[in-house]
Amino acid sequence: MGGGAASNAPKATLKEVKLTRVLGLFKHYWAQLSIILVLALSSAFVGLGPPLVMKEIVDKAIPHANYALLFKMVGLMVGLPMLNGLLGVTQNYLNNKVGQGVMFDLRHALLSNLQKQSISFFTNSRSGEIIQRLTGDVQAVQGVVTGTIVSAISQVVVIFSSAFILFRLDWKLACISLCILPVFVFPVRKVANTRKQLRAETRIIAGQMSAHLAEIFGVSGAMLTRIFGRESLQEKRFTQLNQKSMQLELKLNLVGRWYNLFMNLLNPLGTAIIYLYGGYFVMKGSMTLGGIIAFAAYLNRLYGPITSLLNLHVDVTTALGIFKRIFEYLDLKPEISDHPNARTISTVSSHLAFRSVSFSYQKEQHALQNITFEIKPGQLVALVGHSGAGKSTLINLIGRLYDPDEGHLEIDGLDIRQINLQSLREQIAYVTQESFLFHATIRDNLLFARDDANQEEIEQACRQSFIHDFILSLPDGYDSIVGERGHRLSGGERQRLAIARAILKNPNILILDEATSHLDSESEVYVQSALEGLQKNRTTLVIAHRLSTVLKADKILVMDKGKLTEQGTHTELLKLGGRYAGLYHTQFAGSTASGSSLPQQ
Ligand code: ADP
Repeated sequence: MGGGAASNAPKATLKEVKLTRVLGLFKHYWAQLSIILVLALSSAFVGLGPPLVMKEIVDKAIPHANYALLFKMVGLMVGLPMLNGLLGVTQNYLNNKVGQGVMFDLRHALLSNLQKQSISFFTNSRSGEIIQRLTGDVQAVQGVVTGTIVSAISQVVVIFSSAFILFRLDWKLACISLCILPVFVFPVRKVANTRKQLRAETRIIAGQMSAHLAEIFGVSGAMLTRIFGRESLQEKRFTQLNQKSMQLELKLNLVGRWYNLFMNLLNPLGTAIIYLYGGYFVMKGSMTLGGIIAFAAYLNRLYGPITSLLNLHVDVTTALGIFKRIFEYLDLKPEISDHPNARTISTVSSHLAFRSVSFSYQKEQHALQNITFEIKPGQLVALVGHSGAGKSTLINLIGRLYDPDEGHLEIDGLDIRQINLQSLREQIAYVTQESFLFHATIRDNLLFARDDANQEEIEQACRQSFIHDFILSLPDGYDSIVGERGHRLSGGERQRLAIARAILKNPNILILDEATSHLDSESEVYVQSALEGLQKNRTTLVIAHRLSTVLKADKILVMDKGKLTEQGTHTELLKLGGRYAGLYHTQFAGSTASGSSLPQQ
């Protein structure tokens, strides 16, 4: 959500959001909406009854001692509100059903479109904003159904039917009353608007507060706060929001009291005027006593609907604002999608090639420039270069997390954009530095790679990645929860789980970001051994940080500022005495060449 002012509450006009599109969302619910409308209209008409009942009692039943009529009217006095209550319950239920149905459809459509978005969408958006639109905005749609569309129609009916009866009862008094009505209604409208703005502001602050809390209580945020000893700063930020929230709530409450005061004053004032003028007409004999009572009651019925209708414009623009934000996400075109004639590949021999590939995240800033190389099936290729050279970008292009701006990538001679995305990604597994784990059990995290894997396969994968024994040592074994983002595990354990996940996937092409720097030497040996097991018989591209890897590699690709500057074997490149030789001396020479001493499981 945006900034802190109420004016930032989303609003939109009919020019920005097509009404037909909004109505389209309700296309599966026309039958229910029609019933709701009928119920609302019936309820509006039934509501007209009680004042007339009063009139009958006062004007006819009591003066003429008509017991039968009195009983009938008293019966209606109880029966009509009861009927109205039943109509209200049914209407409310259906309203809710339609609202929830539309919300369900929208959430589903939003999620499925967001899932199709490329990584660049997520790197450019705040996750809080995405979640807000999927939950908060969609939730607000419910209010639109119940609060705006149906109630506006029934309010119009209440106003016109009540006004019609007022004129039928006494047109002169009706004219006078309707003329003075705005004097009462406008202040109420003003107060209602202020309340609405304050509520919007309160919601924004509430959103900021929960976003702040999520950040400081997320494991990474909590750790960062402690490491930097900034608890007091976090507390100060929270206090500011907390204070704002308190002030707003107090203001809202105060305005609410004024609102109630106005409402409480309005009725007696309106009624007093009716009795003053009406009393005069009754005394003159041109109106009955029951007539005035009914008149006052009908007039009272007008205040609420008129005030709401005067606010309809605000409601509609707010509702359109919500739809605008939702439609924005529904209309997002995925940058990376399947070609209409995309081919599904099942097994590949995994010949991978980059052909004159260039790519930039931002215009004019090449992250990759004219990259050309090949990896033959089963080869191990090491990618080396300084930080920021473009290594991660290059590996991300293989799984089409991004598409190149120029040139293309091939698998077995086929442009990867011609391959069905799903089947392409099934061929590839990534093991990156930051192995992401879901807040779920170890088993569920592993099944993410292949949900039909059985326990035996899972354990086999874990043995191969040297994590099985560790898992068994946990009280809940494979059912242990790994904690948010896997924070309950050490870096090495997380990485070995990620490797087990890749083994389960059994990919033809393996992409590794070999960062073992943050692991202790024992973990490093385990991780290294697990990685070596994983690489067997697969085409492997590895961002290398270890001497053993570059020595073993069939080919080393040297990257510098987005360019592929050298390629060859370790011996060839050393002999060349160029950039690799320099890197070798600064980066690799210090690291161990071994790493192959397999620990026993
Ligand atoms: P390496 O993996 O070799 O350290 P990267 O591929 O991560 O390098 O980065 C290459 C260049 O692209 C760097 O200049 C980096 O700042 C930039 N870069 C990386 N990711 C993004 C992104 N999502 N948006 C914009 N620029 C990026």
